[in-house]
Amino acid sequence: MDATMENKMGLPPPYEPAAPNPAPPPSYFGDNPPPPPGFVAPPVAPRTTVITSATTRPGSTKLGPGPTGTTCATCNKSIVTRVEYVPNNRTHIVSAALCVLAGCCCGCIVPYCMRSCKTANHYCPQCKAFVGSHQPS
Ligand SMILES: [Zn+2]
Repeated sequence: MDATMENKMGLPPPYEPAAPNPAPPPSYFGDNPPPPPGFVAPPVAPRTTVITSATTRPGSTKLGPGPTGTTCATCNKSIVTRVEYVPNNRTHIVSAALCVLAGCCCGCIVPYCMRSCKTANHYCPQCKAFVGSHQPS
């Protein structure tokens, strides 16, 4: 009797239902296991954040919503700034609010016509340099 016959004649191997996998141990620590006892965390160096503003804020003159007398940092001349009003986020927000309240877009245009809802950009009339901006409060 060769092995082939024996396999055909023999009973199928007893099937034992696989025992359900034991549940994995609950992970208490997630991805950040706590340090072992006795572990002392290295002192965290104080983070010195140096904020270097890219936008130059020449002088200490507080620019107003309108033309403001100041000294241009570019040409060092005493000037009265030339102001251009540009819509800012507030303009859009007020516009959207008016649009909802009024039920139409008739009111949407209003904020764009109001200086108090716009950012005033100050420019030097002499050298056309950007002096600063004034955000409406
Ligand atoms: Zn200038």
